[in-house]
This record gives sequence, C-alpha cells and structure tokens, in this order.
Amino acid sequence: MANKTILVTGGAGYIGSHACVELLEAGFQVVVVDNLVNSKAESLARVEKITGKSLVFKHLDIRDKAALQQVFADYPISAVIHFAGLKAVGESCQQPLNYYHNNVYGTLVLTEVMQAANVKQLIFSSSATVYGADACNPYTEDMPLGAINPYGRSKAMVEDILRDLSEADRLNQSTNPWKIALLRYFNPIGAHSSGLIGEDPNGIPNNLLPYVSQVAIGKLAQLSVFGDDYPTPDGTGIRDYIHVVDLVKGHIKAIDTLAGEVFAQGGCKAYNLGTGQGYSVLDIVNAFERVTGRTINYKIAPRRAGDLAECFANPALALEELGWQVEKGLDDMVADTWHWQSNNPNGYEA
Ligand code: NAD
Ligand code: UDP
Repeated sequence: MANKTILVTGGAGYIGSHACVELLEAGFQVVVVDNLVNSKAESLARVEKITGKSLVFKHLDIRDKAALQQVFADYPISAVIHFAGLKAVGESCQQPLNYYHNNVYGTLVLTEVMQAANVKQLIFSSSATVYGADACNPYTEDMPLGAINPYGRSKAMVEDILRDLSEADRLNQSTNPWKIALLRYFNPIGAHSSGLIGEDPNGIPNNLLPYVSQVAIGKLAQLSVFGDDYPTPDGTGIRDYIHVVDLVKGHIKAIDTLAGEVFAQGGCKAYNLGTGQGYSVLDIVNAFERVTGRTINYKIAPRRAGDLAECFANPALALEELGWQVEKGLDDMVADTWHWQSNNPNGYEA
C-alpha cells in the first residue's frame, strides 16, 4: 500500500484536503490538481503541517487535457480520487452550462486521460442528491435516481458515463477493466480535530453548519430555519450529517476495495456514505448551543425551494463491501466545526 501514488482532483477543497491528510497518514504519495476556483492553496500547506509530510500540488484545471496528461506522464499514479467540481445547487440553477462544463466535461477529460494512461481505478464524489422523489428513507443504492437540479443532474450524468465506461470494458473483455466506486455523500460537516483545516465557504454560506457557526462567532446575525411545517417530529428538515473525517476514511477503504476481490472483474458500483442517523435543523442548533455554550439566534423562515423533508442513508453496503463505518457522532461533528471556526474566523485568509 505504501508508496502507491494517488491523484486527488480538487484536493485543496473542503473534503479533498481532509482526504489528503488521511492518504498521507496511510502512507500514500499524493498528487493534487486543483484550479483553486473554490479553495486556497493554504489548505494544502496546513495538510503538510498536520501530517509532517509533503505532497505535490499542480495548479491546473482538469479540463486542460494537455496539463493533465503531463501529470500522468510525470507521476506513477495508480488511482484517482475525483473531488474537483462545482457544488452549489442554487448557483447551478443560474449557471447550468458552467456546472455541466465543469462537472461533466471535466470528468470526461479526466477519464479520457486516465484511459490513455491505462490508469483505471477511480473514486468519484457523487451525492445523495442523485436519488429521485420515489426513493424513500433510508436510501439504499438500488433506489430510483432522479436529480431535480443541474448540480444533481451533473452528478447523475457522470454516474451514467462511468457505468457505461465500465460496461464497455465488460463487453470488450478488457484485461485491465475500469474499477469505479461512486461514493454518494450525505451531508459532510465537521473538520479535522487539529482545527487547522475545515470548510471555508466563499461569501455567505448556503449550507447549515457553516451558517450556524458564523452566527455563533458573530459574523452573521441570525439563522433562518427553512420551514418548521415538515412532517418530521419537530417540523424542521432532517438530514444525515456525517463527519468529514469519517467520510474521507471511506475513500481510503474504497482504494483498498477497488484493488481487491469485490472488483476483481472490474465494475462500477455506488456506495452511500452516511451514518444512517437523521438529525433535524433544530437538533443541530441545540447540539451547537450545548457543545459550544453559545446561543444561536434563529428565526423560522419559509421552506427553501427544492428541499426534502427528510433524507438519510442506509450505509449497510459500504460496511459490507468497503468495510467502512462511521466512528464519530454529532457532538464530535459540532465540536470540530466550532474548533475550526473559532480558530480561523476568516477561514484560510490571514
Ligand atoms: P470544494 O468546493 O471545497 O472542493 C472542490 C475543489 O475542486 C475546490 O478546491 C475547487 O477549487 C476544485 N475545482 C473545481 N472545479 C475544478 C476544475 N475544473 N479543475 C480543477 N479543480 C477544480 O467542495 P467539497 O465540499 O470539498 O466537495 C468535493 C466534491 O464532493 C465535489 O465534487 C462535490 O460536488 C462533492 N460533494 C460535496 C458535498 C458537500 O456537501 N460538501 C456533498 C456531496 C458531494
Ligand atoms: N437549512 C436551514 N437554514 C440554512 C441552511 C440550511 O434551515 O441557512 C436547512 C435546510 O433546509 C436543510 C438542512 O438545513 O433542511 C441542510 O441544508 P444544507 O444546505 O446544509 O444541505 P442540503 O441537504 O440541502 O444539501
């Protein structure tokens, strides 16, 4: 395992930087490519500080095919973890072409370059948003898909492309078939326990945890709780929040699994990465107040368009085939979010 080189696209981002820490600590060599459209190179300096190890960083856009080809020529890459992409649902509705270009075309370029280099082990950041309205809680991987916005559809399209790619190798009886894990994340939150890396959103956050922590630190005045009339016990929306460190450990397990028995004949398989436990918006607010001792000023606001009442995973397949399960609970997630936010009130900006 040690000495294997992993290419991490989008490795300077929130989840990617945490993955780099786990990869380095597990003994992998790490090459990051990132165009820094939604991140700062400082995150990678912090990764090196946490681990005491160095990684290679190439500042490039994955759609730049020649630059990506050069990376594969220069380093002995054995597998790719593909985080690079745009992720804001609202923005995707306003800029669909940008989202499809980045997320779908970017993945096409990446897989073309991988195929030409004969590197055919890929872990893709998918999302619970690929599940359709007919899926019911807890979600299992075989439930119907049906994303409802351009961001979600870009993830679903990439999943389709990757399944087709794998199927073609099966039809052609390839001797080196594609081995692909589609990891469907539920709601990653939290930060590394060092407080040195974490989520650093641009501008006003869209997601609940960054918003709550910026209210706690006084950067934002008040949280709007989007809807208290859902058919849930307290009326607020329920999600499956997962600690980002648990999440990235699932990727390390996936690297092992791709190289092992489950993928011996190649293939493309989806795995839910969630805890299986749902918490409401008010559960999160209460946990934040309890763990940090701060008061979260909030008001009840109308529902946010496109939000589901409830969404949580059945993570049994990831346990069975990846040998993965979460280790951290809600209090860890909240405490680590707060540790990062209070140590870095302006994120990576000095
Ligand atoms: P992030 O924005 O922090 O990280 C993505 C990284 O990719 C950033 O560093 C960005 O600069 C880089 N990037 C974007 N487009 C690029 C391109 N064309 N070339 C090179 N680099 C590029 O986001 P994140 O939260 O770390 O998410 C990582 C992945 O996980 C994304 O694909 C996202 O869609 C997916 N995901 C995230 C969540 C979540 O809630 N955070 C949930 C489900 C899935
Ligand atoms: N939410 C909220 N106020 C906010 C942001 C989010 O009430 O400012 C709620 C949202 O309606 C959902 C939950 O918090 O029920 C998680 O939202 P988030 O955007 O973090 O993740 P999503 O599951 O929508 O991708």
